[in-house]
Amino acid sequence: MDIAEKLRQDIEDSEMVLVGIGEEMGISEHEIMNSMPVLFQENMDFEQRLGYLMRQAYQQITGERYLLAYKRLNELIQKKNYFLVSVNTDNLAKRADFQESRQVYPCGGYDKLQCPSGCEAEWEQPDERWDSWAKESLRRMHTVQSFPEKAHCRKCGRELVFNNIYAEKYREEGYFADWAKYTKWLQGTVNHKVCILELGVGMKYPSVIRWPFEKIATYNQKATFYRIHSALYQMPDSLNGAGYSVPENPVDFLINKFV
Ligand SMILES: [Zn+2]
Repeated sequence: MDIAEKLRQDIEDSEMVLVGIGEEMGISEHEIMNSMPVLFQENMDFEQRLGYLMRQAYQQITGERYLLAYKRLNELIQKKNYFLVSVNTDNLAKRADFQESRQVYPCGGYDKLQCPSGCEAEWEQPDERWDSWAKESLRRMHTVQSFPEKAHCRKCGRELVFNNIYAEKYREEGYFADWAKYTKWLQGTVNHKVCILELGVGMKYPSVIRWPFEKIATYNQKATFYRIHSALYQMPDSLNGAGYSVPENPVDFLINKFV
């Protein structure tokens, strides 16, 4: 049986589906830097620039492809009891139709702001004008518009940054409630048929997805495990041959194999 067909069947036969999302399911910082180097040479805050570039890049350049992959994924799992954990900060999966209560983003994202020093403060929303700034900067490519008014910490006055792992002092409380939901859900997988699907997760934060997934696949005899990655698809020996390594880019895999 073809591996995609096998995966579809395993999802169908499972009681629960655990999905891990990593770098290959989004546009890399590297790609953005390569395609728009000028935007990285200006004296502007790295996080704000990157965040908005990413959003805009999704929408205007290659976002459609990723959104299509997420759509295919959603079609595969939507009727199941699933949970999705992502180490990406791109907010892309949030634009797909997954249920809000079944997602967690421990590395944060671009929908909240925080003080880089981690001051206690209310969560602030990004300025809507930043979006048009990014769009315009992208459109012009070679001339960066001056950045609209920045937001500052009410306590110490420092310029706010996005609430994600790239912040100087990342305020992790932003995802704690979702994480608690996730760990509770994980406990519920014990002794149940769970299909584990790891998509494009590299070695950047292995303790969030890769290692725990391997552990679940090792200890849960009813688990099936798929690791899909263009380069880091290898399975550890501890799995004793259980699990499937799929040496493919997960975006291509989802788009091409699940039409
Ligand atoms: Zn502050």
